[in-house]
Amino acid sequence: MNIHEYQGKAILKSYGVRIQEGIVADTPEEAVEAAKKLKEDFNSDWVVVKAQIHAGGRGKGGGVKLAKNLDEVKQRASDIIGMQLITPQTGVEGKKVNKVLVAQDVYYPGESATKEFYMSVLLDRAKGRNIVMYSTEGGMDIEEVAEHTPHLIFKEEIDPKVGLRPFQASKIAFNLGLSGAAYKEMTKFVAALYKAYEGTDSSMFEINPVLKTSDDKILAVDAKVNLDDNGLFRHPDYAALRDTTEEDPTEVEASESNLNYVKLDGNVGCMVNGAGLAMATMDIIKLAGGEPANFLDVGGTANAQTVKAAFNIILKDPNVKAILINIFGGIVRCDRVAQGVIDAYQEIGNIPVPIIVRLQGTNAEEAKKLIDESGLKVYSAILLREAADRVKEVLAK
Ligand code: GDP
Ligand code: MN
Repeated sequence: MNIHEYQGKAILKSYGVRIQEGIVADTPEEAVEAAKKLKEDFNSDWVVVKAQIHAGGRGKGGGVKLAKNLDEVKQRASDIIGMQLITPQTGVEGKKVNKVLVAQDVYYPGESATKEFYMSVLLDRAKGRNIVMYSTEGGMDIEEVAEHTPHLIFKEEIDPKVGLRPFQASKIAFNLGLSGAAYKEMTKFVAALYKAYEGTDSSMFEINPVLKTSDDKILAVDAKVNLDDNGLFRHPDYAALRDTTEEDPTEVEASESNLNYVKLDGNVGCMVNGAGLAMATMDIIKLAGGEPANFLDVGGTANAQTVKAAFNIILKDPNVKAILINIFGGIVRCDRVAQGVIDAYQEIGNIPVPIIVRLQGTNAEEAKKLIDESGLKVYSAILLREAADRVKEVLAK
């Protein structure tokens, strides 16, 4: 689950990570009040108004603006709230901005210059370890740094049993070229950041930029956080952080029906029980010359209710030219699933695309019979090969 910058920063702060302080606002008036409060609490004359959307690159798209007085705060906030913000990460249609974060300006001038770094904590699946990835080249696209100057990206592997060790934090601060107060601050920053990542069961915490201020403070200017969905049950309070307006509406609807759905760009919708079988089904569709329109795992209990919800979700996609239902009857009996398909089909009425149903496992023969005798425009198959051939046939029509 992704969360907004302002929410990520609140989590960071609760773990003792120094942040660029800010207050979230829904309207230009609230933004002005926020700026006044920042002046009171942190004596910040200038503020930055930052669009809150679940995508990075906001600065480049015009979603991060400096304001030097309250009139400018109001102006910038009314420009940004409601805008359709297009960044390299939003796609061409962009994302509508509903909130802004009014944050203290931390790029204030001073004797020594400010410096931007990059830092993230994430899981390296291949190594089975967490890593701290960091670079002196902060503030810009890390992908670009990785492509052109990969030697400027460092990685520190963390043993999850032990956690981040003090010498590792020191090594990171050293590699970032810091000394004196900033060096010490950075070691504390890294340790607290790692604790936040671990304590929240996150799969990623990306801070770009991490800023060294002109008075040698180290703080998080940005926060891109991905909370691991599998860990959410341990943090019931995080449910409130979810912003469904940022998610694909079909995926939200699917999750409400307990379906695991990911939209793709192909033309063959699929409905499968089990994630592994769903992956294999997508391969079969490709082998048959089609492209999967989605990944959809209906889970262990494929009854009429879930099958109907799944049909409705798949049919929302106008690119779908055929639907392949691939169910393995292990826990669930195939004839019950077949009846579910028939009931759902009759309830929905006219489904405009051909449906191929492949049921294998317990009571597969009975299931095929049920479908063949239902009189509906549903093709049945027991072997995966047959199902694939059927897909090829209906796509050729
Ligand atoms: P992103 O573009 O979505 O990654 O958003 P960031 O939060 O990283 O902000 C983008 C850029 O805005 C940063 O790299 C900074 O250059 C700039 N920025 C952020 N905060 C401040 C600030 O307090 N003062 C000034 N002058 N610039 C800022
Ligand atoms: Mn950023």
